[in-house]
Amino acid sequence: MLDFTLTPEQQAIKDQAHDFAINVMRPVARHYDDTGEWATPVYQKAWDLGYLQALVPKFCGGPGKTQVEEALVCEELAWGCGGLYTSIMANGLAITPILIAGSDDQKKKWLGKLVEAPVFAAFSLSEPNAGSDAGAMTCRAERKGDKYIINGTKCYCTNGGYADFYTLFASTDPTKGARGTSCIVVPRDTPGLKVGKALDKMGQRASNQVEVHYENAEVPVENVLGKEGMGFIIAMKTLDQTRAAVAAGGVGVARAAYEIALDYAKNRIQFGQPIFSNQGISFMLADMAKKIEASRLLTWQAAWMTDNNIKNSKQSAIAKTFATDTAMEVSTDAVQILGGNGYSRDYLVEKCMRDAKLLQIYEGTNQIQRLVIAKEIQQGN
Ligand SMILES: Cc1cc2nc3c(=O)[nH]c(=O)nc-3n(C[C@H](O)[C@H](O)[C@H](O)COP(=O)(O)OP(=O)(O)OC[C@H]3O[C@@H](n4cnc5c(N)ncnc54)[C@H](O)[C@@H]3O)c2cc1C
Repeated sequence: MLDFTLTPEQQAIKDQAHDFAINVMRPVARHYDDTGEWATPVYQKAWDLGYLQALVPKFCGGPGKTQVEEALVCEELAWGCGGLYTSIMANGLAITPILIAGSDDQKKKWLGKLVEAPVFAAFSLSEPNAGSDAGAMTCRAERKGDKYIINGTKCYCTNGGYADFYTLFASTDPTKGARGTSCIVVPRDTPGLKVGKALDKMGQRASNQVEVHYENAEVPVENVLGKEGMGFIIAMKTLDQTRAAVAAGGVGVARAAYEIALDYAKNRIQFGQPIFSNQGISFMLADMAKKIEASRLLTWQAAWMTDNNIKNSKQSAIAKTFATDTAMEVSTDAVQILGGNGYSRDYLVEKCMRDAKLLQIYEGTNQIQRLVIAKEIQQGN
């Protein structure tokens, strides 16, 4: 049976997230975008509502939210502020390798931390010379007895400056390439782990990304998730699951820009009539509405497939690409519809445009998503 109606529980989750976005995020979004400060009061409230730890299962004391519920929340959070949304959403990204491959004891140990306090974690895959080609990573975790000795540098670790632990992808067997990588949980206070300076960004400036350097950092072998050599598979499975939350972010940013542009077009008078009366403007808005609705449905589909244990590599890549390209197109057109005001920082659309750009880049660029989609359709999926 097909039903697009939200249940009363889902509607309540969406409404609560919208209240949080409008009352907690929007009033401070510009401040954190300007300063790049870490928004501790916002994250405290996000934790109070269960957003930082949303995916932590009930048996670990967490809310055990589904991916569909996570998508509903993420759309609203990104509507509130793209940067603050990324900090919150990236906690889900960072813990997903543990959800996928961790033992029950590992889940209780690491995920339990997020339940006890507003704790952050960071997903640590990218390296300066291994971005899209993540399998080419050189960060090394060499096994010596009951320890791994880690050496190398990771970059763009979202939340990395404030994380309590990292889900690190490193090579445990360089002779096997991507099949020789493993995912290891590394606590922040590990001697030899050094956090570098934060990335100064064009948009989503409230979020935090750092390099993390490892110099003979030792962690016990019990911190490996699943088995040695499973790292690349864990990373790919993680991204299949979490891309719906990025797509939801695209819907939220696009909707924020669209709402402002629609309101502006109805009220801005030029040549004696609202600019909406020009088909050149109203068709832009119609296209925005069309793409936002389609993005949301693709997002829900990808999330629903994860919740129902259906392989969704193709659908999550399609949702991520479509929704985040939509966010970029809609926010760019919104700036155009507002004319000079669109370019001004007095209106939110310029921030939406800057925030949208990153959605096309992280969790696999939209070129890489097209590679994923192409591979899937070639295989008949
Ligand atoms: C703000 C921010 C937050 C991030 N957060 C995280 C995080 O939390 N954890 C993490 O591990 N990483 C994170 N990343 C890293 C992000 O996932 C990478 O930036 C992204 O995967 C691209 O890698 P790259 O920057 O090295 O670009 P490159 O791989 O060097 O790509 C450069 C360009 O070439 C294109 N390209 C590359 N290969 C191909 C190909 N085969 N076909 C067509 N085009 C191609 C790319 O699409 C891109 O346009 C983040 C990045 C940013 C900017």
